[in-house]
Amino acid sequence: MAYRAEYIWIDGTEPTAEVRSKTKIIDGPVVKTPAKLSIWGFDGSSTNQATGDNSDVVLKPVFVCPDPIRGGDNILVLCETLLTEDLSPHPTNTRAAAVAALKKHKKHEPWFGLEQEYTLMKGGWPYGFPTQGFPGPQGPYYCGVGAVKIVGRELVERHTTACMEAGLKIAGTNAEVMPGQWEFQIGPADTVEVGDHLWMARYLLYRIAEEYGVEVSIEAKPMKGDWNGAGMHTNFSTKKMRSNYDAIETAAKSLGGKAKIKEHLAGYGQGIEDRLTGDHETQRFDKYSYGVSDRGASVRIPWQVHQDQKGYIEDRRPNANADPYVVATLITNTVCEAL
Ligand code: ADP
Ligand code: MN
Ligand code: MN
Ligand code: MN
Repeated sequence: MAYRAEYIWIDGTEPTAEVRSKTKIIDGPVVKTPAKLSIWGFDGSSTNQATGDNSDVVLKPVFVCPDPIRGGDNILVLCETLLTEDLSPHPTNTRAAAVAALKKHKKHEPWFGLEQEYTLMKGGWPYGFPTQGFPGPQGPYYCGVGAVKIVGRELVERHTTACMEAGLKIAGTNAEVMPGQWEFQIGPADTVEVGDHLWMARYLLYRIAEEYGVEVSIEAKPMKGDWNGAGMHTNFSTKKMRSNYDAIETAAKSLGGKAKIKEHLAGYGQGIEDRLTGDHETQRFDKYSYGVSDRGASVRIPWQVHQDQKGYIEDRRPNANADPYVVATLITNTVCEAL
């Protein structure tokens, strides 16, 4: 029986890349590894990845999992984009640098846990906000229960199940501080795998939300004013950090070098100044600090990590709309070079 492979890639939309996909019917044995799948292509002039006169961009499968939406033998195929000329990475292919960073620092055994926050939207307004007004102030919604506080749980549950059935490393979910805002976590996984699984989980979220007529926004500050923004807190450890507190301190300090702050913020997602205001559990974008249990710091050392004198750190700065490959590449390089 023929089956379907959904080829998924990351486009060239600016300032924030988006997911695209198209379907390939495969008439043959069921394939479960990327190396056994054929390369494919698409019209890059329609995705801000090429000009019309030289429009073809190559899709190279890099990660395959079962398709939990279609079921059966159907698969999801995450791809890297390559140039036709020499099959080198396309300029918008940020995964290639993550592969290089992991290769370079493999002996450190980097692990990431990403907390993807997002906002459900309907008609350009957060899902669950009254049509022309605002709900009561923040407070009851975070991890809340009950119809007055919560919207979208059925969608969220379906997404979680889909991620589990696809074999993604989903670690948990929770309702967030602003109504209509939710979070899921991916990890622990290495510098490359965490990006593969996060992009795949984003694809599944957008795809499932279609069925509800709901739009998923990963905008960093969808509502101005006294409403929390949406981040992608990035939890990180290396082998040394998982056994030694000095390495935790070294890691937290390494992210605070002046040049490093600038370099990292440039890769942490569009509109970061709007989100990192110093309020709503953030440190200001132009300040760097780290501290135990401190949700107003740039980098938090979890209480339990201080207690155990080993573990991981949380970089709270990345936006929800950041590219996980870029964030993981920056942190792997900066911290591993300092350790
Ligand atoms: P928060 O308390 O900030 O909301 P979460 O529970 O949402 O934290 O997310 C913590 C994330 O950290 C999870 O995805 C988890 O897999 C990840 N994590 C746990 N231990 C490590 C570690 N040693 N290295 C990297 N990530 C880790
Ligand atoms: Mn969290
Ligand atoms: Mn959160
Ligand atoms: Mn967090």
